[in-house]
Amino acid sequence: MKKRIKVIYDRENCIGAGSCAVVAPQFWKMKADGKANLINSTFNKKTKKYELELEVDEEMLAILKDSEDACPVRVIKVIEIN
Ligand code: SF4
Repeated sequence: MKKRIKVIYDRENCIGAGSCAVVAPQFWKMKADGKANLINSTFNKKTKKYELELEVDEEMLAILKDSEDACPVRVIKVIEIN
């Protein structure tokens, strides 16, 4: 069953460890400034965080949660929205 989720990414506090891009390269890409980009996300000016809403199956959700867990500074949050 698919789940609707939201990924919230605090890019400002990314330290460029790169773990997210290793475990979930379909979602994270390292950029020239040394930080990761959350592919296809949009910037929320209010919260100053990047956001991406998606419908995912269990496998995709597990991959995203792996990237959340892999980040040493915990700037990635994956939340289920229904
Ligand atoms: S794992 Fe965290 S700190 Fe490392 S690049 Fe990804 S978001 Fe940034």
